[in-house]
Formats: sequence, structure tokens, C-alpha cells
Amino acid sequence: MVDDDADMLLLCRMQLSGHGLDVVSASSGAEAVLAAREHRPDVIVLDYTLSDMDGPEVVEALRSRTDSAAPVVMLTARTGIEDQEAAWAAGIFDYVIKPFDESRLTEAVDAALAPDGERDARRRSATALERLQEHEVATSRQMAALVQHAEDAVITTSLSGTITNWNAAAGSLYGYTQAEAVGQDVAMLEVDDAIGEIRGLLERIGRGDRVPHFETIQQHRNGAVLHVSLSMSPLIGSAGHVAGVALIGRDVSARRRDDQKFRSLVEAAPDAMVIVDASGLIELVNAQTETLFGYSRVELIGEPVEILIPGRYRAGHPARRDAYSAAPRVRPMGEGSDLSGLRKNGSEFPIEISLSPIETEFGTSVAAAIRDATERKRSETMFRELLTERAEAEERFRGLVESAPDAMVIVDVDGQVQLINAQTEKLFGYERDELVGKPVEVLVPHRFRGRHPQHRTGYNATPKARPMGVGLELLGLRKDGTEFPVEISLSPLRTSTGTVVSASIRDVTERAQAEAAQAKALDREREASQRLREVDGLRTDFLSTVSHELRTPLTAIKGFAAMLSDRAESMPPEDRAHLIDRVSVSADRLDYLINDLLDFSRLERGLLRVTLEPHDVRELTERAIDRLELSVEHHSIDNRVPPDVSVLVDDTAFSRVLENLLSNAAKFSDRGSTITISAAVTEAGTVAITVADEGVGIEQTDLDRIFDRFYRVGGSDNRKPGTGIGLAIVKDFTEAQDGTVSVTSTPGRGTAFTLTHAPAERRAG
Ligand code: ADP
Repeated sequence: MVDDDADMLLLCRMQLSGHGLDVVSASSGAEAVLAAREHRPDVIVLDYTLSDMDGPEVVEALRSRTDSAAPVVMLTARTGIEDQEAAWAAGIFDYVIKPFDESRLTEAVDAALAPDGERDARRRSATALERLQEHEVATSRQMAALVQHAEDAVITTSLSGTITNWNAAAGSLYGYTQAEAVGQDVAMLEVDDAIGEIRGLLERIGRGDRVPHFETIQQHRNGAVLHVSLSMSPLIGSAGHVAGVALIGRDVSARRRDDQKFRSLVEAAPDAMVIVDASGLIELVNAQTETLFGYSRVELIGEPVEILIPGRYRAGHPARRDAYSAAPRVRPMGEGSDLSGLRKNGSEFPIEISLSPIETEFGTSVAAAIRDATERKRSETMFRELLTERAEAEERFRGLVESAPDAMVIVDVDGQVQLINAQTEKLFGYERDELVGKPVEVLVPHRFRGRHPQHRTGYNATPKARPMGVGLELLGLRKDGTEFPVEISLSPLRTSTGTVVSASIRDVTERAQAEAAQAKALDREREASQRLREVDGLRTDFLSTVSHELRTPLTAIKGFAAMLSDRAESMPPEDRAHLIDRVSVSADRLDYLINDLLDFSRLERGLLRVTLEPHDVRELTERAIDRLELSVEHHSIDNRVPPDVSVLVDDTAFSRVLENLLSNAAKFSDRGSTITISAAVTEAGTVAITVADEGVGIEQTDLDRIFDRFYRVGGSDNRKPGTGIGLAIVKDFTEAQDGTVSVTSTPGRGTAFTLTHAPAERRAG
């Protein structure tokens, strides 16, 4: 008999030895293996959930590490179909679900011991299947409860569109109660110009088509427009054909608003912006793109971006795109080479492009900011021509610089500013005289200045026309000390007095803002859906954990009670007393759990009310210890709270907090270790009450999360009894009483939870 719960061991041992069998017990998988080698059992009764292994793992270990082929009867509080399947697949003989009658267990063991056990096993697995089906019914009830409480709207309809089910989230999304919605046509959710959309999709699903997830506009009962993301999937009836459809809807109005914001930022960008998806198709363009390339939006969206590139470069472009997606970062495109764009009318023009990656759920999209470089090119060529001609260069050169659309700064070989234009004055807030003759580093934020001369020397060594600071986000520094993002293109100019460098500088604040806003919107969205998925997962585990937690003490109570009623007379009085004791321990455990569940549901529904009154801490702690007597019976409790310390708390809420902390302390530390309760006045004048144990401790990474609802260290591998709501209750209850809770822990050494509360006025006298 293998079980890590002492009551279960005792119960089964009594039941089986009462049935004339010799019983050897083990309380872990490892002990089971040793006991099987030593005692060569005829049948093994094995609990599913042990502290060191899962049931199927123990079966596997028994088969591979001992020569025992004894049939295994598995006992379990787990009713999940997958758990059962895993057990049957491991080759067990029978599967007994807690709570069970004594006869259910003894019959299973008898059958396993019978010589025709083989044939019997087959019969049993047939009945097991039936049982699985019964549990499937129970599970589908649980599923129904889950659906009802899902955060997404879940609606089922018949194939003709009549609503057959409607959950609470659907109610809050669309504004109809379940009673109002069921029986109505689902078309009532559609806006006027989409009437019939859902009906069309229902017909397709009825024909066996799959309908991909889509976004649409629907309406709230009060007429408000809703952006909804919808999935529709067939409900298969027992006869195997499509009997109806499930619609799962989520309100994406907020995301649409973010999208909208992004679109208007793109629209407001000074450059032509083209957003290209991971496969190279154009997703979004702005009005500047339309003007620049002469296409209308409709002609571009969905087309390969190569449509904007002259024919001779197209073949090479996809490979470049791939190279970019392999190492995406913000950078100018086609460094050092001249880029050209192709208009709809076939004409080409020089362009400059800056690329930045945008992560989306569907892969990396790329935003390309495109600027017509005709003018810049023209001025640059003209500079060059002028300077080579060396004819009256200076004056016209100034004129040209002046007329350039960007801020232009001409810097000599020593890094001194020779010439700037009016745009530079405007952009940086300096007067011409303040800059000319100064080092160009004046325009660079202080923290980058040190390295700048080096960059200049590097550039002078191999001067050519190129964007500056590839891969870096460049910043300019205004006279007033503010910084702003810039894009800079450098080109060398040979003059009679040597080589100078002309820098055209453009303020890209707006574009940077648009990109940042988009990135933030996407991050928020991703974070939100990640959290939803996590909580969903935890919530699902929670249901099965609770059922497990209820079944184990219930099994002990039923079993011991049956035993007492059958054979109390024939039992020695001390055995009888012991059994009665165990019944009451298990009943306490149930009581405790139910209290937790009630507290939790009160929290969830926001029904928690507290009345703060003076209470004596010593009295409260003693009461909690008394109430928990049996859960902490194997620990020594050192209550160091001095008399006469009073706090302002709510009697019930505070007691529940203490009980949770004490029972956790006992649960997560060895038998025989000490749990210490102490109280002290803090510097801030509040009273700190600490519950400290010498247990397993909690890793730093888990410390932040243990107060979250449903969170259990180690997730579903956490084999200690519990549901993950205890500390959520502790936190919310404490904060409701204007207190705080904090925790410190050393893994392997122990954990201390500290509550602080306002002191009560000392009683007079
Ligand atoms: P549970 O029902 O799992 O006890 P709680 O919310 O009470 O849920 O606790 C969450 C998790 O925090 C537990 O699963 C456990 O891993 C960890 N924990 C709580 N108290 C202690 C403690 N005193 N020592 C070690 N770990 C603890």
C-alpha cells in the first residue's frame, strides 16, 4: 500500500487487513520500489499523487527496477481524463477514484489476486471506459462552468443562427442577459451594413468549411459600435455531424484605437512611410507615399514592395529583405549605394530610406521611411561641380546650402564648422555666428562628444557620400540643452583649401515617436494577452486542484466512519479514539478549505467588509493555534507575542490571515521543526507580527508571485496539498484592514511572513 497521506495509509491498511490480507506500507515512490524488492507483494495499491513521483512513473519504476509483475490498483483523487489515460497506458489493473467504499477497494484487490485476473482485466478496462465516460459528463459540467466564467464572450448557435447559449462575458460585451439572448437570432449583434455576414459563415461551417479567425464590427444593445475579434468553430454532435457553432468573441476596440493612433502617426510622418510585412507585401502606406510614387493606396496595399523598385534591382531585392529580417535593426538602407524609386509612370528618382523593424504577432514587419533625395542629390552634385570649376564658388555655394531643404553644416578637416544654413539655425537654436568656427561637437550631446573626433578621423580616411552612424540612433543637441533624434547624411567636398564634409541633418522626432508609439501599443497588447493566457491556465489547474483537495479528506472521513459503524464493538478503545480523532482532523481540513474558498469568492466578488477594532495580539494568535491544533500537531509552536500588544484589526479577517500563514508554515517545513510567532513595535509606530518557519524556503524568483491568485511554486508539480489562493487571501485581507504583508525567505532555511497593523490605543489603566 503506497500513499504519502498518513490517513489514507491507515484507512486502506485497516480495510485490507480487515479483509484478511497482509499489508506492507510505503509513503513514496522510492520506498515502494524498495518494499516491492523486499516483500514481493501479490498486489500493489498505489496512490496517484506522491511526493516524489507520479503514479504512472512509480508503475514504470516497479516494472523496470524490480522483478515484480504484481498488478497495480491505482487510487486517486484525480479525475482528469488524461491522468486516467496515462495510468491505463502504464498498464495498471484498476483505477479507484476517491472517495471510495471499502467494498470497491477490496473487490478491486480480490480481482487482481484472482487466478483469472487476465480475463478480468479486460472486463475491467471495459468498465473503466464506461467510468471514463461518466467522468466526461462531469468534466463537461466543469467545462460549462469554465465557459460561463471565461473572460471571452462565448456564444453557441444553431446552424440557422438561433442563439443556444450565452455566457457572462457575452452579456457584458453585448449588453443582453442570457435570458434575453437565448432564442434570438445572432444577427441582432450585427451592424446594419454587415447583416447576413454571420449567417453566411454559419452556412460555410455547416458545409464543413473552416472559417479563419477574423475581426468585424458589431453592435452593443445600446447601439454602440464594437470592434470584435471572432473565432467560429463547429460543434460536433454525437452523430458526428455539425450540430451548431461556437462563437468566441473578444472586444478589440481598444486595440483598434491604438491601431488608429498608429495609422494617424504614420500619416503625420513627414516622409513617405511604407510598412511591409514579413513576406514582403505592403501593409500600410501614407499620403506622402501616394504623392511620391503616384500610386493610390488601393493599388499598393497587398502588392510586393518590389513594385516601387526599378526593374533591374528587383531580382536582388528579396534576398536583401531576407538578410534584413535575419538581423533587423533601425538603420539606413543600402549604405553607400545610390537607391532609386520607381513611380507609377515609370520614371525613376533617387531616394533615401531608413528601415526599422516592427515586431507583430505575425512576424517582423518593416517600416521604411522614404525620402525623395532628388534635391539633396542635385545640390550635392552642384556643390561638387561648382567646387571643381572653382568659379565664384563661394557665393553660389552659400546660396545653394541656404536653399537646401535640410539643415546643412559644412565642417572642415579639423572638425570646425565652416558654414551653416538658416535651417540649421532654426533646428539647433543657435545664431550663425555662435557656430561658425566652433567644433561641430557643440551640436552633439555631451555623452557622445568624447568619441566623436575619432569618428570624424575615420570618415576623413575614407570619405564618401553615406549616411552617418549606421545602426546608431543619432541625437542632436539644441542650444537650450534639449536633445532630438536626427538622421545625418555625409558627403565629402573637395575644395581649393582641402576636403570639407557636408552634413545634411534632418529632425526625425515625429517618425521616432510614431515608431515608439507603435512598439508600445504592440508590447501592451502582447503583455495583456500573455497575462490572460497565464491566468486561464492557472484557473484551469485550480478547478482540478480543488476537487483533489476536497476528495482526499472526504475519503478518509467516509472510510473511517464506515469502519467505526461496522466494527466499533470489536475494536480496542484506543483504536476507536484514534479513528475518531482522524475523522475530526479530516473534517477540519475540509472546513479550512471551504473557508478559503468562501473567503476567496468573497474577494472575487468584492464583498469583503471589515470592522477595525482593538484586539489583543496574544489572544488572537493563541486562538489561531488552537483552531489549527491538528494541522500543526507535528510542529512545535513558539508563541513569543508579549501580552498587552493591541492592534486595530478585524477579528475574523485577521484570524483567517494567521491561520493561512500558520498552516503554510507547517505544510512547507519538516515535522518536528519550530514555528515562531513574534510581535514588535516598528520604528514607524506600527505593530509587526511575524510568523517564521524553518522550512523549505522560497526562491527569489517566486517571491514576487506567491501572493498572486492560484500561484503555487512549481505549478502542478507542487505535491503539497493546497490551491494557490491562501496567500492571495492573506494579502487582500490584510490590505483591507489597512495593514501590509511582506515576506523574506532563504531557500533551505526558512521563511518569515510579517504583517503590520496600526496599534490600538492602550487601554486606560
Ligand atoms: P497553497 O494553497 O499552494 O499553499 P498559497 O497561496 O498559500 O497556496 O501559497 C502559494 C505558494 O507559496 C505555495 O504553493 C508555496 O509554494 C509557497 N509558500 C507559501 N508559504 C510558504 C512557506 N511558509 N514556506 C515555503 N513556501 C511557502
